[in-house]
Amino acid sequence: MRVESCLVQIGNRKDVATGAVSYPVYYAATYGHPALGQSTGFDYARLANPTRKVLEEAIAELEGGDGGFACASGMAAIQTVAALFSSGDHVVLSHDLYGGTYRLFEQVLARVGVTASYVDASSVDAVLQALRPNTKALFIETPTNPLLQVADIAALAKVARDHGLLLIVDNTLMSPYLQRPLELGADIVIHSATKYLGGHNDVLAGLIVTKGQELTERVAYLHNAISAVLGPQDAWLLMRGMKTLAVRLDRQQENASRIARFLADHPLVEAVYFPDLPDHPGRAVHFRQAKGPGALLSFRVVDPALVEPVLRHVRLITFAESLGGVESLITYPAVQTHAEIPEAMRRAVGVDEKLLRLSVGIENVDDLIADLAQALERAAEEVG
Ligand SMILES: *Cc1c(COP(=O)(O)O)cnc(C)c1O
Repeated sequence: MRVESCLVQIGNRKDVATGAVSYPVYYAATYGHPALGQSTGFDYARLANPTRKVLEEAIAELEGGDGGFACASGMAAIQTVAALFSSGDHVVLSHDLYGGTYRLFEQVLARVGVTASYVDASSVDAVLQALRPNTKALFIETPTNPLLQVADIAALAKVARDHGLLLIVDNTLMSPYLQRPLELGADIVIHSATKYLGGHNDVLAGLIVTKGQELTERVAYLHNAISAVLGPQDAWLLMRGMKTLAVRLDRQQENASRIARFLADHPLVEAVYFPDLPDHPGRAVHFRQAKGPGALLSFRVVDPALVEPVLRHVRLITFAESLGGVESLITYPAVQTHAEIPEAMRRAVGVDEKLLRLSVGIENVDDLIADLAQALERAAEEVG
């Protein structure tokens, strides 16, 4: 089955007793044992819940992995995976990355002796130079959030293999519909399923997918031991959202491509970051490993004074954090999603006060363009 069919069929007739097309929400926290030493496969809900299990099997299949694990949020998924590391271990991460991931490594993991370096992962040389004798993993986003920098997953998988490291890919921006890092040699995929997979800005969730039996067992152990697991109602909501992932993303990408071109031609816009623009430096690598550009783009306005009035004047587009849902959202990374990253590091990467990030939804694209046009125009009038 192709990915679109797998998505739509999540949970369909998996409840064999009833043949339910939408898998039921099992709220039971504990399950009766048929006899001493026997189990139905469900004992206690932290370890396994039927609704969560259907979701976990679906994401494992979609990503081509051996194990799937549903967590309370994307950060809970990252924390669970980070528990693979011990005091004295070192991890190399993309320098342009989600602010919460940076905060977890710098404020939480650093205290227990796990150190981190941040590099431009679009350069294999930069990654190689950051390796130390105690490096245990590469943790990358591709494309990165918010600057859409592209890392070559297969090339970094080779670096990881040659040096005995784990390659962990945060695949939130692409979803398995567009990119499957495990097939390119990664060991672990992480999702903030709050974003494209859920798709409706109504559920907080995270997913982990692992490749290989030993690693799958280690992560299963940590998932239960740490237990930042996803509740059954949220697992159901997430599956319900995932059924339409392919059609949503098709429309979102189409809209995003049109908007990227509109912004690239706009006199008040200095730069647009989107993998499908002809001058995007990572374009060739991106389209070798992903089926589409995705629907997140960032742009830099010519004057930082334009930012506040643009955010005030958008009407259809909502000024809010997050991304990936059917509703278009505009974000100011420097003060919102990436505020945790120190100013010097943010600026060096390019996340400055002129940068806005747009998560493109499924509204009519002409309405979205008209909204951006009027907001930019009114902002320019105010700034003079
Ligand atoms: C949002 C996000 C996260 C964190 O996920 P939550 O579900 O908000 O905890 C991690 N990585 C990326 C790329 C994200 O966009």
